[in-house]
Amino acid sequence: RPAIVWFRKDLRLADHEALTAAARSGAPVLPLYIHDDETEDARPEGGASRWWLHESLKALDASLAAHGGALVLRRGRTRDVLATVLRETNASALHLTRSCEPFGSRCEDAAAALCRDRDVAFHHHRGRLLFAPEDVVTKDGRPYRVFTPFWKACLARPAPPVPMGVPKFTDFASTDGVPLDALELQPSRPDWAGGLRADWTPGEEAARNALSAFIEERMATYAERRDGLRANPTSRLSPHLHFGEIGPAQVWHAVTHAAEAGNSAVRKGAQAFLRELGWRDFSYHLLHSFPALPDSPLRPEFARFPWRKDEAALTAWQRGQTGYPMVDAAMRQLWQTGWMPNRARMVVASFLVKHLLLPWQEGEAWFWDTLVDADLANNAASWQWVAGCGADAAPYFRIFNPVLQSRKFDADGGYIRTWVPELAGLSSRDIHAPWEAAPAVLAAANVELGGTYPGPIVDHAAARARALRALESLK
Ligand code: FAD
Repeated sequence: RPAIVWFRKDLRLADHEALTAAARSGAPVLPLYIHDDETEDARPEGGASRWWLHESLKALDASLAAHGGALVLRRGRTRDVLATVLRETNASALHLTRSCEPFGSRCEDAAAALCRDRDVAFHHHRGRLLFAPEDVVTKDGRPYRVFTPFWKACLARPAPPVPMGVPKFTDFASTDGVPLDALELQPSRPDWAGGLRADWTPGEEAARNALSAFIEERMATYAERRDGLRANPTSRLSPHLHFGEIGPAQVWHAVTHAAEAGNSAVRKGAQAFLRELGWRDFSYHLLHSFPALPDSPLRPEFARFPWRKDEAALTAWQRGQTGYPMVDAAMRQLWQTGWMPNRARMVVASFLVKHLLLPWQEGEAWFWDTLVDADLANNAASWQWVAGCGADAAPYFRIFNPVLQSRKFDADGGYIRTWVPELAGLSSRDIHAPWEAAPAVLAAANVELGGTYPGPIVDHAAARARALRALESLK
């Protein structure tokens, strides 16, 4: 009787507790993936995530094939598919990595009930987070709502377990599945995924390479440069972590090991980096305790916030046509490559909810569709953070000035020139706010405001005053 390993967002072979436990049990291992686009309360993956998922499943299948196994793919309602597979294969056990997302947890409960009915051993394992949500709570047993004490409590705990390698497989089992193309994850014509393919390599091997390259080449400068917009100063591990092509414990231990062997710059970079990885755990802990996080503000008074409805403004933001060069550069980078740096995410998100006064849920939904690392916990927690309605949030009244942000984090304008080429002829002084440049300067750079490039969609000072009035109305 086979032991089923039900893969979800843990698409790797190394440091996979569920897979290792199944392989060690001596039963033939049956690797299963279910693509559920039918259950009503499952949030379907966005377009960029679907592309990544397709590639990642292909890579996982190839890795399994190298060990003599094959990934069985099924499509349909999770509960029904699981019931069918358990029956058809007469499985002895079901192993999975615990999800910590609301839909994932409901599926786990359903799976556990199915296993009970059929006398199948049900095992869930760690692997998605550094620390389990129930292990990090305040003295009175509540979830943390502020990051710094949360992270302090995490650091006081035993370190995450040392990662295990790829297990030794003795035997695999299989059953009928559908071909990968039948999951219909790839974009149909037109093929808009070209930019994603050019920028990214999904899969476990690429994740490992990205981690090594970061540690060797950029970790020592991470603390100082992480907010820079150009030259990718960060790890770009987010989609790999999201799909579980690498586990957070693997990242933790590789970084800690390098820090122990490195100089003070490396140690400083490692500490700053692990703190960011800590924000990922924090988002999941929040989602675990507040499952409505993706839809409803954590601060209830924000449910009354007087958001505007303005399709034209929303479209201008989505397409990178707001007339604010840094915002537009970031939104175009997102559209083409499925990613943008954290600083740019904060600025464009703030622009949407404060300058345009549009609901954060609109931004969350656009990011969900276009980011390769679109992640229910990180995306929702970050949008709520920027909108001022989340846990430990930036106060709403602190409003980023997109021009000052641009001058500070893209001082030479190189980021803007890459993504907004129609402004490339402007100097690093004029490129951040072209409407302030003299007409002759614009003409010399072939920039016509309202023609080759839009004028600013809102005036910064007026938009700021409007946002503050809206906040006042909550009181
Ligand atoms: P690094 O700086 O190298 O950090 C390493 C890892 O730590 C990241 O891969 C990520 O897993 C985690 N991390 C870093 N910063 C944060 C953070 N602020 N919050 C939570 N985890 C963090 N991240 C996502 O993974 N998915 C999302 O959907 C997402 N949406 C966001 C939306 C907004 C509005 C904002 C402001 C941030 C969002 N982030 C999201 C967080 C952050 O921007 C990205 O994780 C980071 O930019 C990814 O790049 P990196 O892997 O090079 O990060």
